Amino acid sequence: MTTLPHPFAQDAASQAASEPPRGARWRRRGTILLAALVAFVAAGATALHALDAPLHAGPPPAGVTDPLPSARPPSTLAFSVLQTGVSGGAAEALLVGRGRWTEHRRPSQSAVLIRHPHGVMLYDSGLGRQVDAQFAVNDRFHRHAFRYERSGFLPALDQLERAGWHPELVRFIVPSHLHWDHVSGLPDFPDAQVWVTPEEREHAQRGQPPAFLKSQFDGVRHWRDLRFDGPPRLGFSASHDVFGDGSVVLLPLAGHTAGQVGLWLRLPSGRSYLFTGDVTWTIEGVQQAADRSWLLRRLLPLDHDERSNQAAILHLHHIMKHHPDITIVPAHDENVLKTLPSFPALQG
Ligand SMILES: [Zn+2]
Repeated sequence: MTTLPHPFAQDAASQAASEPPRGARWRRRGTILLAALVAFVAAGATALHALDAPLHAGPPPAGVTDPLPSARPPSTLAFSVLQTGVSGGAAEALLVGRGRWTEHRRPSQSAVLIRHPHGVMLYDSGLGRQVDAQFAVNDRFHRHAFRYERSGFLPALDQLERAGWHPELVRFIVPSHLHWDHVSGLPDFPDAQVWVTPEEREHAQRGQPPAFLKSQFDGVRHWRDLRFDGPPRLGFSASHDVFGDGSVVLLPLAGHTAGQVGLWLRLPSGRSYLFTGDVTWTIEGVQQAADRSWLLRRLLPLDHDERSNQAAILHLHHIMKHHPDITIVPAHDENVLKTLPSFPALQG
């Protein structure tokens, strides 16, 4: 009589022969783990790609396709960009939906100087002399997230003085909005009027760091309420003509903040620029009708009203399409700013 072997009874020698050595087992486990990780990252990237899809453009807002209204820019009108700081930066894919992960962008903080025969003005003020003290109220996370580089730091006031411009020449400042990286320089120009919409000022008064730093605007002595009392232009429902000759026109761009303001500059040379604050951080956002990355918008509350800001992105997208002669300038796009005259050079 033969005895059948028990199904689980293997002798030690055959068990050792059927099992891979310990090193091979770990290698196999490592491969499985790596494959799972790659699949996880790929699934995440695919989901993010879908979430960062361009906005649906639809038809242009009424008036965008109209011929441009006439302007009479004076022959001495000119402008220049004063780059005051450079941020630590981030991957382009965070700054604009479907941007490149491989491209590290360094958004800059600038002021735009406009010299008009009726007065010198700034649009935004960039980082000012007191930025370190202003910025110190932020917590550690935000100090890192919004850090600025020491090497690129040169306040507008220093640049003006070095070039022999008296700071009191700056009669007024129009901040695109009151976020910290646009109004840090306000205390450096205590005699200048600061033009802000009532909505923006109220928003900022209620605001908190890191977006709004009260020390930057609490000391402003000469506020002026900015009202859009002029006719529709470029598809915007109203406008404000600063000098009455159509050369410098302010436009409502609310969304990113409650009362953000754009500036349309028309020079004697016929060149034309539309400064758009923080509707987008890069020109690619306007070109592709793309918002900031979904991931970043979930991590940080970036916009006062995301829907309104997206409407503003689409509006600018249509302007770019129908008026290619107008150069659109997002406040922080270092690549676009590089193409503009850098102070003390001026362009008319
Ligand atoms: Zn902003």
